[in-house]
Amino acid sequence: MKTVKDLCLGVAVAGMVVGAGSALGCAVAFADSGTSDAAADTRSNARAGAAADVDRASAGAASAAGPGYRNRAATRPEAAGADGDRAADRVDASARAAARVSAPVSHTADTGDSGAYVPGFRSAGTVPAAAATTVLPGNAVDVADRITVPVAASAPAATPWLAATNPAGNRATAGGVAQALAEAVAALLATPAGPLQPVTPFPLPAPTPVLPAAPAGALTVTAASTAGRSRSASVTASQIGDPDPTHVLLIGTDGTNLSKILEYAYDDPNSGFRVVMEQGVTGATSIVGHTTISGPSWSTILTGAWDNKTGVINNLFNPAPYIPWPTVFNQLEYFDSTIDTAVFANWKYINDIAGAGSYPVAPADNVFVEFSNSWEDTDDLVVDATIARINATQASDSTFMFSYQVAVDEAGHAHGGDSPEYVAAVVNTSENIARIMDAIDAWESANPGQEWTVIVTTDHGHQQSVGFGHGFQSPNETSSFVMFDLEGDGANDGKQNLGYTNADITPTIVNLFGAPSRSDFDGVPLQTKVTSIVDPTDLKQALNDAIDMYGYPNIGDDIALGVRTVFASIPYFLDGFVNTINGQLQDIVDADIFLVSALAGVAEFVVQIVGDILVGTTQAIARVVATLTGSGVIPPSDPPLPPPSSAVLLPVPPAAVLV
Ligand SMILES: [Zn+2]
Repeated sequence: MKTVKDLCLGVAVAGMVVGAGSALGCAVAFADSGTSDAAADTRSNARAGAAADVDRASAGAASAAGPGYRNRAATRPEAAGADGDRAADRVDASARAAARVSAPVSHTADTGDSGAYVPGFRSAGTVPAAAATTVLPGNAVDVADRITVPVAASAPAATPWLAATNPAGNRATAGGVAQALAEAVAALLATPAGPLQPVTPFPLPAPTPVLPAAPAGALTVTAASTAGRSRSASVTASQIGDPDPTHVLLIGTDGTNLSKILEYAYDDPNSGFRVVMEQGVTGATSIVGHTTISGPSWSTILTGAWDNKTGVINNLFNPAPYIPWPTVFNQLEYFDSTIDTAVFANWKYINDIAGAGSYPVAPADNVFVEFSNSWEDTDDLVVDATIARINATQASDSTFMFSYQVAVDEAGHAHGGDSPEYVAAVVNTSENIARIMDAIDAWESANPGQEWTVIVTTDHGHQQSVGFGHGFQSPNETSSFVMFDLEGDGANDGKQNLGYTNADITPTIVNLFGAPSRSDFDGVPLQTKVTSIVDPTDLKQALNDAIDMYGYPNIGDDIALGVRTVFASIPYFLDGFVNTINGQLQDIVDADIFLVSALAGVAEFVVQIVGDILVGTTQAIARVVATLTGSGVIPPSDPPLPPPSSAVLLPVPPAAVLV
């Protein structure tokens, strides 16, 4: 009983502390909903205080970024040293942004985008790439000379499950302590206890946001045309599930507001976003009613199920949800192992998702691109690898590729969603998409009769000022989009769809390959949503009108989701903090200084154990809070995919590293 009392006391104290934080976070998110200049000063002041609180709460964690920030934050001490440099950085970035906006077509490699990052800083807790990787010869991709395999990944881990399920990643020994404690706490809280057991989660709104009304002047599509790059007239029912070779590319750009795309990357007819929008159908979507954190949102995009089903709450990766909720990769690989699935990403969480489940992406095709110079430069490398794979794709091979870019989200965290750096990142992403679309055009010209389907999306938006970034329910944070350029469909080029949701993406992809749809998908194939297509006279204006129509959820859901985000952020920040400290200690160990290095090694061990206990415990508490607020409360109606007959059910780590 003492344990239960202590636990309840701990939860109560944490609740009081976090409740205050949640209220503050919600207030900040609410204040962020406006974008008028008149309110800007007030919001900035409020956020400055809020950001300071976050810093203190995270005990000096390496970043002042918001709750949706990834662990990469711990690898870059930009916030700690940013204040003094930020003004200068902003000037540099502003100049670059202006240059990009004025001439967004010409792609020039950045060499000076330090933003607030420290040049040459090595990721804390990350083994130096040069030391940790070996060259993988003979890779089919043209960039084989830059693709390497981590030493750790080339040899099976001694305790792969332990390492894989430890939210802190590669801390096997101490991770076991935290894992055991986390499970104990979770089990304790989940133990049936008579009348105390029934838990009624907060009712959350239906996953599908309210559709915006058709803009004035919009026309319902009734006629087909053959405009655009498509070679066939229009999609028909018989094309859905076509057994011919299928080629699908999903492009993900993290934390990207459609409003910024429209403002800064639409008017140039050669911009990548514009090209996709003019060759496809665009929906201004919203994920209101769902957590605006990257992990849960990408899980929705890659499974077709919202977080009230998957139960994913933050960016501490856990492979467990992808067994009951198989990823699009799992579903395709299980349906037909001859389908080539591949991932190119510069956030390991994405590679981890691709490597999870019973039928993961093959390690050689699960490409992680190491940070290099700046996030925009790193995105460029992701796109280089993506294009190389497109070029190497055989027309006869069915292929699904996911190409993920992160620079926009990183710029939003470091500088705010209304900063010139954010605009520069949006423009850079647009240039990258233009390069990809050029490669696809060239591929289609070289392979007559074969086309690609291209989908572009984001996981959430961003608050306008630097601070929390995202994680709450303000319209700027819940804003999303889906651009859908369907193979063979030229009839709907340049139109808008009022019915798209981010949960439609996986159902769309499995349908295109002819794989069976799960009965518990929250979405449906985009290509079946024909009645919600409209033909605006001004697509840009119509999409902006749609964005403006999205608002907050009801106050109960707003608070519940805010509380969930705050609790889910605690273990995440702790994990980043521990990684930062131990990265610094490891540097001392590596220096091999007599006695000092030995002491640092001991300190690292202790910090790791204590950190893992704290991370594991707070993650377990966050899990309970998430359940109480409706996360992961809806069970699957379809069974898990049958286990592979001859394979061991272990998550496969990404093997390919691009440096
Ligand atoms: Zn994100």
